[in-house]
Amino acid sequence: MIQVKNALQIAAMRDAGRITGEALLAARDSLREGMTTYELDKVIHNYIVRAGAKPSFLGYNGFPASACISINDEVIHGIPSKKRVIRAGDIVKIDVGAYYRGFHGDSARTIAVGEVSDTAKRLIEVTRESFFKGVSAIAVGNRLGDVGHAIDSYVVENGFSTVKRYIGHGIGTALHESPDVPNYGTPGRGTRLCNGMTLAIEPMVNVGAEGVRELSDGWTVVTADHSLSAHYENTIALVGDKVEILTLIDPQF
Ligand code: MG
Ligand code: MG
Repeated sequence: MIQVKNALQIAAMRDAGRITGEALLAARDSLREGMTTYELDKVIHNYIVRAGAKPSFLGYNGFPASACISINDEVIHGIPSKKRVIRAGDIVKIDVGAYYRGFHGDSARTIAVGEVSDTAKRLIEVTRESFFKGVSAIAVGNRLGDVGHAIDSYVVENGFSTVKRYIGHGIGTALHESPDVPNYGTPGRGTRLCNGMTLAIEPMVNVGAEGVRELSDGWTVVTADHSLSAHYENTIALVGDKVEILTLIDPQF
């Protein structure tokens, strides 16, 4: 069942969203070549805890860290490690959740470290833009198929492919709630949007084919063809027929 939020609950979600977005800014500002993904996770963990919140991912289904950090052909769910060093030329996906006063925020960014290929730059930009194409299809009475179609058609127009195996989701008192929010769809089909809905919209986009597989660590998802992948996610609320992007702090990021 979809949990539609009232004004008080949306207000609490704004706080959770802000902390989540700020934790990503802290990660961006400290990210540098030579750092391990473990160190980057600690920056995020410390930010969230100092803000009086809890890292949503820590212990979620046994996940051992506060952020998912995935590099290059890793799509999502990378496990931070003291052995994994971030190098110039990498594209780093950072996915963060913060739980504050009963509600979760969930947000992800892809960051280029040093000089990356033109394809990598374009992938990051198209993935980010596809999120906003999805947002522009959100309105009371529209359907989730409109949102997914807007995302996927933009990705395909730009010569990339949308991951279908993993999707966005409702969010609130639980990190993952109803409804499913696919990054593809048929216009006019799917769940009808209404005020009070809170969703994590999160396109995952590959340079090559859409296929992905999970590594034997039980978490890390990589592209099947080892092409580069990017991820961009925000938690949004539909309020008064307007979209509020709760985890977007720096509009350029
Ligand atoms: Mg996420
Ligand atoms: Mg999510």
